[in-house]
Amino acid sequence: MSDQMESVEDFRMRARAWLADNMPKLDPNKEYNTNRVADREWVEHRELQKKLFAGGFAGLCFPKEYGGQGLSLAHQQAFTEESIAYEMPLRLNVPSLSICSGMLLDMGSEEQKQKYLRGAISGEIILCQFLSEPSGGSDLAGLLTRAQRDGDTYVINGQKCWSTYAYAADFATCLVRTDWDAPKHRGLSMIIVPVHDDATHLQRVRMVDGSDEFCEEYFTDLVVPAANLVGTENDGWTVGQRQLFYERQAVGGGSPYTSGRAPSRGSSAGLTLENLAREVGKDKDEATRELVGWQNALDTVNYQLIKRVTVGMTSGEYPAMSSSMMRLAHAEIPQNKMDAMLEIAGDEAVTSTVEGDGYLRSVGVQYLMRQGASLGGGSAEMSKNMISERVLMMPREMAADRDVPFREIRRGR
Ligand SMILES: Cc1cc2nc3c(=O)[nH]c(=O)nc-3n(C[C@H](O)[C@H](O)[C@H](O)COP(=O)(O)OP(=O)(O)OC[C@H]3O[C@@H](n4cnc5c(N)ncnc54)[C@H](O)[C@@H]3O)c2cc1C
Repeated sequence: MSDQMESVEDFRMRARAWLADNMPKLDPNKEYNTNRVADREWVEHRELQKKLFAGGFAGLCFPKEYGGQGLSLAHQQAFTEESIAYEMPLRLNVPSLSICSGMLLDMGSEEQKQKYLRGAISGEIILCQFLSEPSGGSDLAGLLTRAQRDGDTYVINGQKCWSTYAYAADFATCLVRTDWDAPKHRGLSMIIVPVHDDATHLQRVRMVDGSDEFCEEYFTDLVVPAANLVGTENDGWTVGQRQLFYERQAVGGGSPYTSGRAPSRGSSAGLTLENLAREVGKDKDEATRELVGWQNALDTVNYQLIKRVTVGMTSGEYPAMSSSMMRLAHAEIPQNKMDAMLEIAGDEAVTSTVEGDGYLRSVGVQYLMRQGASLGGGSAEMSKNMISERVLMMPREMAADRDVPFREIRRGR
């Protein structure tokens, strides 16, 4: 067989036929897009990923030597379009495939790629990220979890929090401090750790909207092989930066490693401003129409922004930090939508008791997590800092702790 890449149209036809023969069709009676992920769903999504892998449709943009297909973003987009009517292993997209696997592809050793990257693509392994700590996620380089080298192992102590889907994952990419005498960015290391271990106490966190994707983890002498170090010791900031690049890209909607799109069914099904305005009888109201029009304009801008920045980063025209622009838009545009929804729904969003008023009730509940959009994947303020300092090359913010040994930096208890 020749090495020439299959055309997108040929691939689309092949994918269409394969999906019809192999993947389950969306069930109109089933709830998708729910806040809380049932345990059963994780089992199903692992099985769906295994199916994609066996059929040669998993990890389309990952290289073949690690279980992917070595295809282009255009092939991935075609596959996503074709798979819209089918159940897809969407829960494995973020963070396992788009963030952790992306980072491992760029920074992992050959052995790590064969085990964890191939494992994630084939559906055998789910990965998550252990970055944030209670002392603050924005100042990631100020983290306190420590790893001590002991022969062929590292011994880890500390605490992580806000870890998305950790309870369902097998391994995590964990950023730890390995040198307390180096300045804060230079004493970090990225280590792959098992999520479920006797030395790790994992606790799930229930959020105000009823979702329970987050976990927090407490490590007491967690021992991991030194071979799990990604990159070199004390260069974890470089590795972490790569992971954050993929995170901003995934959160912003421009990842080549996500496959499939959330079905428009479930508790937030059809939750558009137009539907909402119709439901509350405001679709002819001028002020409401203005809100709807403005949001539609923002959505169009966002779509174009993702396209433009993705192409720019792929060609090298834009620096990698440009992913912060997508990430920032992903904070401000959904928040504008939530605000508009609440305004249109009015009091009904929180008081409605009418049976079957799905839109109205979900507006109130979703609004409770409005702020999450400007925190997950790094905060909107940090994105603005990055755009100004790393894309526009404006002067850097003053940092009193720069070049100071981490041990000497004053911090709260
Ligand atoms: C949906 C979601 C998923 C997440 N998933 C994960 C995950 O899988 N793994 C993980 O490790 N973490 C995860 N997080 C945590 C996330 O990375 C942090 O919430 C984020 O980095 C902010 O950290 P923080 O919450 O500690 O807020 P803080 O860092 O305490 O910041 C609080 C506020 O201060 C502002 N601020 C802080 N420093 C500055 C500054 N220098 N300039 C201007 N403003 C500043 C921030 O923008 C923010 O508004 C997730 C969060 C969300 C909401």
